Amino acid sequence: MNTDIHDSKKNMSGPDADNKMSRRKALKYIGTGAGVVAVGGATGFYGYRRSLRISSSDAAKLRNVRFVVAGGSIGGITVAARLLRAVPNANVTIIEPKSIHHYQPGYTLVAAGVYKKEDVLFDQESLFLSGMRWVKDYVAAFEPEKNRVKTGSGDYVEYDYLVVGLGVEVNPASVEGFSEAIETPHAATIYNLESGMKYREMAKSFQGGNAVFTYPAGFVKCGGAPQKITWLSEDLWRSNGKRDGMDVHFFTNHTSLFPAVPKVDAAVTPLIEARGIQNHYRSDLRAIDVSTRTAIFEDQMPDGSTREVRQKYDLLHPVPRFRTPKPLREGPLTAEGIGGQLQVDRETLQHRRYSNIFGVGDCAATGAPKTAATIRKQAPVVAENLISLALDREPASLYDGTSGCPLLTRYGRCMMFEFDFKGNLVNEWLYQSTRETRLWWDFKVHGLKQLYRHVMMNGYV
Ligand SMILES: Cc1cc2nc3c(=O)[nH]c(=O)nc-3n(C[C@H](O)[C@H](O)[C@H](O)COP(=O)(O)OP(=O)(O)OC[C@H]3O[C@@H](n4cnc5c(N)ncnc54)[C@H](O)[C@@H]3O)c2cc1C
Repeated sequence: MNTDIHDSKKNMSGPDADNKMSRRKALKYIGTGAGVVAVGGATGFYGYRRSLRISSSDAAKLRNVRFVVAGGSIGGITVAARLLRAVPNANVTIIEPKSIHHYQPGYTLVAAGVYKKEDVLFDQESLFLSGMRWVKDYVAAFEPEKNRVKTGSGDYVEYDYLVVGLGVEVNPASVEGFSEAIETPHAATIYNLESGMKYREMAKSFQGGNAVFTYPAGFVKCGGAPQKITWLSEDLWRSNGKRDGMDVHFFTNHTSLFPAVPKVDAAVTPLIEARGIQNHYRSDLRAIDVSTRTAIFEDQMPDGSTREVRQKYDLLHPVPRFRTPKPLREGPLTAEGIGGQLQVDRETLQHRRYSNIFGVGDCAATGAPKTAATIRKQAPVVAENLISLALDREPASLYDGTSGCPLLTRYGRCMMFEFDFKGNLVNEWLYQSTRETRLWWDFKVHGLKQLYRHVMMNGYV
């Protein structure tokens, strides 16, 4: 880790900003956070759902029910914590192979020089509430007919109810030459922490030429992240005086910059175009030719045909397609046509064929954005439905499709918004969703990690 860049600057809105806050600054941010929580709480924007309260006789019935959670990240841990808040002696087991947890929503800020590497790492064990049992292994296979999973070491973990929160991963093989390119000095991606740190150095030292950013087809983990790193990089080059000597290209498979939310799309597009960033739509990265530093795209034409487009690069931020982990995409819990995701009802989050299995987070085929903001709304639904089912009641809690996004448009500025399944803004007036504000930048940098780690992961959501 390069520590030098964190000791010299004082402003956390800029690249490589000092992460150590003065007391005065800390008080300012606490004040900002308190203000946001107070306003949000008063209006209900935060959408806080208090822990389930169940009777002691119901709790006693649940004490011997075996809840198993596959995947101990933000989805799995938040559901497990909600279960334990409702049933303090619940039998909750989490299967998770990693010792270090990564706060992935912070990756963009690491690559942008705002966070240090250690700001996004947590000791996995510290995430477990007392009472959670940890199987430090990976799921090798799901065996839903036998109500058990097989682990990497060959053991079986049996369950009465299973929650699947395995997330999604990049699929390097989806872009020919990606793995080779990412090892060169000219390409890096924020979808990997080490590569994101390399990107930060690449961006800082970039002197000019073609900077090329891409956005893949299919489902994408945090659909705003490829745009955010493009826009922050352009802002960095503008502020360090290098912008005139370069062309900044954003190639996306979409038909516009942020099609999931039309109002945000309409607000942000002119701002980005005014900055001279060249957006290329319906363009899918298929290959990278490292020897000539060329990114090769397949463009969809209006008549349905395709054509190959070649773009030379001096700096490349490629994002390949995503896939679910192997035991999910090649196992019995997925279905045709959903790209290896977990087959769930998008409202109850219950598996469509196995009623004692639920999904949470990125791996579930809900059509919702693959973000931690989505999980904040899904986890309480899963926990409530699990408890209902275990008490022989209907799973009546429904996920309404709400998600959120802190769209970092430049250093010190962020558009914050929540939206529903139809792409309508939620609480637009409160967020001032289509405005770039300093307040939401500060909240992204200082507040959201606390929300993730101390509110969600402790089951308070
Ligand atoms: C660059 C970037 C920027 C992002 N920005 C934001 C943002 O601004 N806001 C936001 O809300 N979200 C953001 N996200 C998205 C957010 O990080 C994810 O949506 C979230 O982490 C998904 O949580 P999850 O629990 O579903 O899966 P993950 O966090 O991906 O975790 C999956 C877990 O399953 C485990 N696992 C995998 N395979 C197995 C197996 N076979 N057996 C057992 N365990 C297994 C993994 O070790 C991991 O711990 C960003 C992500 C990235 C990469």
